[in-house]
Amino acid sequence: MAKIKKIAVLTSGGDAPGMNAAVRAVVRAAIYHKLEVIGIEHGYEGMIKGELFKLESKDMRNIIQRGGTILRSARSKEFKTEEGRKKAFENLQKNNIDAVVVIGGDGTFRGAGIFSQDYDIPFVGIPGTIDNDMFGTDFTIGFDTALNTVVEAIDKIKDTASSHDRTFFIEVMGRDAGFIALHAGIATGAEAILIPELEGQIDHLRKFLDAAKAADKSSNIILVAEGNKIGGAQEVVNQLNGDYDDLGIRVNVLGHMQRGGSPTAFDRYLASRLGVAAVEAILDNQRSIMVGYSNHEVVHVPFNKTIKGHRNINKELLEVADILMI
Ligand code: ADP
Repeated sequence: MAKIKKIAVLTSGGDAPGMNAAVRAVVRAAIYHKLEVIGIEHGYEGMIKGELFKLESKDMRNIIQRGGTILRSARSKEFKTEEGRKKAFENLQKNNIDAVVVIGGDGTFRGAGIFSQDYDIPFVGIPGTIDNDMFGTDFTIGFDTALNTVVEAIDKIKDTASSHDRTFFIEVMGRDAGFIALHAGIATGAEAILIPELEGQIDHLRKFLDAAKAADKSSNIILVAEGNKIGGAQEVVNQLNGDYDDLGIRVNVLGHMQRGGSPTAFDRYLASRLGVAAVEAILDNQRSIMVGYSNHEVVHVPFNKTIKGHRNINKELLEVADILMI
């Protein structure tokens, strides 16, 4: 195998707080190991268009605390085509790139896996998504920050809920996974949590609302994960057919504020560890793997496992939520 001298790094898919800390760690670890580093802007789109530029250690100053991604992100339709990936490969070759670190979610890893089947350039992935839905890692970069943002927002909404005797249906992100809803529900003491992983939730919700009415419970917080089988928070309320309007129902969709902001200490720590691990994996001749974090250790997980595997919600957490909702 040829000696690795020059690597590239990019961020792709949905942005997540802590991506900058990961870029910083990759760049500094690479320089520490005497490698040259190229940044690619706008993810795979920039790889196709040739948006490559040299990164130095000093470029990484003062970014560890910044949300978003200084490399910018994009969703690239062209990378899903053979011609697009060929153009991307030619740009990597033209710039003498020996390996690539991609920071993103499962779509990003799927793209990297497909690319590596056709072209002989090692790709290593770092999980960066607020959804925490990736198989093979206990945490993804950005989840902890998003969770804290959601908790802060719900605490504020609770003030109004209790002052005005209202029931708030709060919709949170997470695509088709309920990690943000479940963890935030536990952390805020929400009265009910609707997540995509569970069936028959509307009946459960009706039972809960009946009980709340009977107990004269005047304010409630119901968390709705966006990928819920019933639909978003408004659809859930619509399905109640006005039966509980006397509970003073209000709907609040938290939206993109969940993806932004300065990363928490944990996300910075995780990003720093995984960034260094990604560079070391490349130097160790690893390819087509994600560096993840499991049981407080860095782990290497093949892309195909991270893509095919579905990360299940921890049953014990569901129990904790259920016990505390009475
Ligand atoms: P995330 O990485 O956050 O899951 P996406 O699902 O949008 O975000 O994936 C990021 C990018 O990865 C896509 O815009 C696309 O360029 C690339 N990608 C995703 N799936 C594939 C695929 N099947 N083949 C090639 N590229 C893909």
